[in-house]
Amino acid sequence: MTSLTASHAADLVAALLFILSLAGLSQHRTSRAGVVYGIAGMALALVATVVVASRSISAGAVALIVLAMALGAALGLWRARRVEMTQMPELIAVLHSFVGLAAVLVGWNSYLEVESHGAAQDRIGADLLGIHHAEVFIGLFIGAVTFTGSIVALLKLSARIKSRPLMLPGKNALNVGALVAFVALTVWFTISPSLPLMIMVTVLAMALGWHLVASIGGGDMPVVVSMLNSYSGWAAAAAGFLLDNNLLIVTGALVGSSGAYLSYIMCKAMNRSFLSVIAGGFGIEAPSGGAEEQGEHREVRAAEVAEMLAQARSVIIAPGYGMAVAQAQHPVAELTRQLRGRGVEVRFGVHPVAGRLPGHMNVLLAEAKVPYDIVLEMDEINDDFGGTSVVLVIGANDTVNPAATDDPASPIAGMPVLRVWEAEQVVVFKRSMASGYAGVQNPLFFRENSGMLFGDAKQSVEEILRVLESDSRRDAAPTVRQPKVSSR
Ligand code: NDP
Repeated sequence: MTSLTASHAADLVAALLFILSLAGLSQHRTSRAGVVYGIAGMALALVATVVVASRSISAGAVALIVLAMALGAALGLWRARRVEMTQMPELIAVLHSFVGLAAVLVGWNSYLEVESHGAAQDRIGADLLGIHHAEVFIGLFIGAVTFTGSIVALLKLSARIKSRPLMLPGKNALNVGALVAFVALTVWFTISPSLPLMIMVTVLAMALGWHLVASIGGGDMPVVVSMLNSYSGWAAAAAGFLLDNNLLIVTGALVGSSGAYLSYIMCKAMNRSFLSVIAGGFGIEAPSGGAEEQGEHREVRAAEVAEMLAQARSVIIAPGYGMAVAQAQHPVAELTRQLRGRGVEVRFGVHPVAGRLPGHMNVLLAEAKVPYDIVLEMDEINDDFGGTSVVLVIGANDTVNPAATDDPASPIAGMPVLRVWEAEQVVVFKRSMASGYAGVQNPLFFRENSGMLFGDAKQSVEEILRVLESDSRRDAAPTVRQPKVSSR
């Protein structure tokens, strides 16, 4: 077997492993196997790439590639071991920015090395040179948009810049104008490639990526993250065309299309227009509504909540990002066990964008061994709040905000939310009256049937558990008989 056919076979097997990986990751029961398939596919792809490269480049260059891979692997392992679950979206945004940057560098390298040394004419042939030029430009454009877009996403997710959408005057015209300019520059570059055009498209795409993501805000950020995932896939596919690497094209297309589909599903779940979001919030007007308080809130203590729970017939727990920050899932699972042991019906209502990652809450609850059958999706549980005695909102905010349904001017207007306020009693676990990720105040906190239990969610749940346990000990203690006093 020649090295070429062996490398084709390796590419094919790696591509199949990536498809198996995606299929495995689509369900929690098979997700571990999905990760293993992905690791095996990537290891095979790396080895095959180095082996093929070693036939056409010097030993020194191979050594440099291996060194770069070892350094990258060491850095990746170090970060992956240290990263907190709450920082995962930020890590993902950083990784997307690397893919975008790599595509930009591949585009520039392809232009500088190949074009300026005239090797392109030999390798590609004069007829296909125009297509090659277009590939360089398109790859560069997608890569640069992904690069700066991911950096803005990182800054928003880590709260280093405000999550509210940037509303420049004529923002839609700016985005459309940048796309028209890109098409015109591509035609020009295909006919007559030059360095100034390369610089112009790089700057244009970086500015567009920045503006696109800066213009989308608050509650729409989950879609932005999956959209950038999709862009990074297309950027990798474009780099694959430039590097003549079939596996990179297939892998890029898999990531690009699955990311696009995930963005579409999330848009549907959040009642958003897919086209409007990917076009940088096209057609969305400047939202109103801030973080200022909207009335009087009522504070409750852990002992009162324990009493409420002890009397309840049914309880629904709505977890959110704060449960992840507090790492409260284990005491929450213990509280669930105790209440169920007392005959209370306990279920969880999980919003599709609760937390900072799709499936964030499901992962935490599974880790704490909460039974799957009591963890329900928003659509499965939303009609049941009306007949529920107590709802515990543990670190959730935007996903339980009635303004999404009641206030058409709210930045989260139209987003389906958990209708927790329909229950008899609602207890909100948080540390202050601060707003959630979208930066809007939550009228739920000022409703008559809502009580605020301030403090770290983990400590609050532990406090409730202590009260419940001491109550059960007191109830179980045998009554001490008083000795009869003799009258004689
Ligand atoms: P939010 O981010 O809206 O609110 C979380 C709340 O948790 C805050 O109000 C905070 O209040 C509270 N909190 C933080 N730390 C603690 C703690 N230690 N103990 C108790 N409470 C705490 O959460 P939701 O899950 O409801 O909503 C998710 C938001 O994130 C949505 O806007 C969504 O669009 C966005 N998003 C989601 C992504 C996804 O894929 N799921 C990705 C990117 C963004 P306080 O500070 O007062 O304690």
